[in-house]
Amino acid sequence: MISVNDYTKKLYNKDLPSCSDTEVYHALLTMSQEAAKEKQTNQGKKKIYYISAEFLIGKLLSNNLINLGLYDQVKAELEKAGKNLTDIEEIEPEPSLGNGGLGRLAACFLDSMATLGLNGDGIGLNYHLGLFKQEFADNLQKETANPWIESHSWLTRREVSYPVSFGGMTVRSCLYDIAVTGYRNRTNQLHLFDIDTVDEGIVTEGINFDKEDIEKNLTLFLYPDDSDEKGRLLRIFQQYFMVSNGAQYILDECTKKGCNLHDLPDYAVIQINDTHPTMVIPELIRLLTQRGIDMDEAIDIVSRTCAYTNHTILAEALEKWPVRYLKKVVPQLVPIIEILDDKVRRKFDDTSLAIIDKQDNVHMAHIDIHYGFSVNGVAYLHTEILKKDELHKFYEIYPEKFNNKTNGITFRRWLLHCNHLLADWITSRIGNNYKLDAAELEKLGELAGDERALHEVQAIKHANKKILKEYLLRTQGIEIDDHSIFDIQVKRLHEYKRQQMNALYVIHKYLEIKRGKKPGRPITIMFGAKAAPAYVIAKDIIHLILCLQELVNNDPDVSPYLKVVMVENYNVTLAEKLIPACDISEQISLASKEASGTGNMKFMLNGAVTLGTMDGANVEIAQLVGEDNIYIFGEHSETVIDHYKKGDYCSKDYYEKNADIKEAVDFITGPQLLAIGKRENLERLSKELLNKDWFMTLLDFEDYVRVKEQAYKDFEDRDSWMRKMLVNISKAGFFSSDRTIAQYNEDIWKLDQ
Ligand SMILES: *Cc1c(COP(=O)(O)O)cnc(C)c1O
Repeated sequence: MISVNDYTKKLYNKDLPSCSDTEVYHALLTMSQEAAKEKQTNQGKKKIYYISAEFLIGKLLSNNLINLGLYDQVKAELEKAGKNLTDIEEIEPEPSLGNGGLGRLAACFLDSMATLGLNGDGIGLNYHLGLFKQEFADNLQKETANPWIESHSWLTRREVSYPVSFGGMTVRSCLYDIAVTGYRNRTNQLHLFDIDTVDEGIVTEGINFDKEDIEKNLTLFLYPDDSDEKGRLLRIFQQYFMVSNGAQYILDECTKKGCNLHDLPDYAVIQINDTHPTMVIPELIRLLTQRGIDMDEAIDIVSRTCAYTNHTILAEALEKWPVRYLKKVVPQLVPIIEILDDKVRRKFDDTSLAIIDKQDNVHMAHIDIHYGFSVNGVAYLHTEILKKDELHKFYEIYPEKFNNKTNGITFRRWLLHCNHLLADWITSRIGNNYKLDAAELEKLGELAGDERALHEVQAIKHANKKILKEYLLRTQGIEIDDHSIFDIQVKRLHEYKRQQMNALYVIHKYLEIKRGKKPGRPITIMFGAKAAPAYVIAKDIIHLILCLQELVNNDPDVSPYLKVVMVENYNVTLAEKLIPACDISEQISLASKEASGTGNMKFMLNGAVTLGTMDGANVEIAQLVGEDNIYIFGEHSETVIDHYKKGDYCSKDYYEKNADIKEAVDFITGPQLLAIGKRENLERLSKELLNKDWFMTLLDFEDYVRVKEQAYKDFEDRDSWMRKMLVNISKAGFFSSDRTIAQYNEDIWKLDQ
């Protein structure tokens, strides 16, 4: 059997006990990479290419060890040598190749594809500095560069390179692969394209850089600021660079396997993750015509190869590129896009279905829907809203293309890796099979009346709370009480996710405590969220939360009962620490706006009880666990959609009608917060809430407070709360991404096993 010591000998000519943690990390990295190479890959004829601008993969070491079946052996060997795997894990930098849910989904999908043994690779970009790192100073978010690539990393350079032309300029790509280890199964690859001339030295302060020096900045950052034209142009450069490389790679690989290009759909299926990779459609058409296939057939071939996943109904997130921009960056695609538009216009009178609109904007989603064979939403409610409202006209002409694939999460990372205590307990109760067949978790339901089992689950939760407490103290200098209720909202900062509603609750509670109404048990309300650098109101909300943290935690009347914690730089690593320790999972988006959510699933799996609206996959969670095991509040999506249609929501009405709301909103610009925070930010936020409140914070506030108080009260009935935890865990099997991926394969990809 291979040992870690063999690798430290080989790499450093030292025995394990005398190696530093960094040396051990590199030995384990090499060991995992070699073990991954040993695993066979699927040689099937047809392959799924999952193309995505983001893969938020998280740290890889422990996950790979688990998937390769090396974890227990390595842990034991390290312990014998006086080393601790948890310390080694901290050496690894987290690759920040995604913003949030969409990128994390892509990473979970790769894990499940490999675990199910499917022939499937990922295609994306190797952003050198990834997403920015968040730091707090003066109660504000500051963005700094987050370099994650080290000389010895998970990236393996490949001898692959393609020319990619932008208008007059041609660059040559290079390719790095990251092995995707399946759980006790095959290894697939994540292909990340890059260019050798990227220069991290062009970053000046924070995350500023010359947005026009394409050869130096092309894969420098994930999604540069798109608040100005230069940023938007760079985004098109990045997108085209990704899809052109992807398309050339796919055609090469298929041709090598004997594909004659006419039969491309027998060799390749391309899943387009949101609209960012949409240009792969015209690019493939362009390449096929270049290789001698006529235009109509090329369009037909590509339309039978590409499938599209829609992730949002937020209008501002549906990509539209001015033709003028495309002419600058990718002039070779413009005539093809015009042909695609022309065909649509000939077929359908309704100009709202067109690809290029009257203002000369190209609607990327329209390309995907007309020229892909499948359109899927990411949760039941989301897909229904697409069919009934957002994409209704498309649904009428292509009903057969529309399908739902409720998102999922990989249980390897979000249970086996992040919550060893719970995973081991589950194994002790129902055996190992649940690791590959998540539906087996249902068996835990039989323990709902087993007092001892319930107390064990409760003890594990408490142990995880203590682990989080220690971690936050050590890494962020934050002190929390492990006997308090951990009420957690972690996700990207966006008005539709309504962190501001939770912040208003904090104000409400603070004032109640000040007036003498003290909660029986202390409450810790935790937030973690990055705001897009150009999203002004989102940054104002962060400012409010940070000011509240300072106010509440330093008030001796209140801090014994209520604490506010805003963790810095929320990322996958932090999620893995926070989620196992959570009691109440905040999933409070405005109904109809969160397409699915996947954070909600991770929390549920780890025994947190959801406090949420009937939105995204919360609807399916509610259905699975039943109303006794979830806290639902707020208006339903039909009501909300109706408010938008009629334009009859007026936040001021709620402010004037409800004294609690008025008091909480007024507090934002009251003397206590102004003494701590910045007038400009707080006043802007307050005005936004009173005059606009596009995502209807005040609509649901009263009901939110009512139901949240009920949840806190019910928490004290310990036995019944333990049962809620257990039911949530036992019903989480449906949200395994293994189930999601099996459904993608069954309905869309149809790969031969
Ligand atoms: C799961 C995850 C998300 C998505 O969370 P939602 O609550 O579904 O928005 C975002 N960021 C990270 C780091 C995650 O792990």
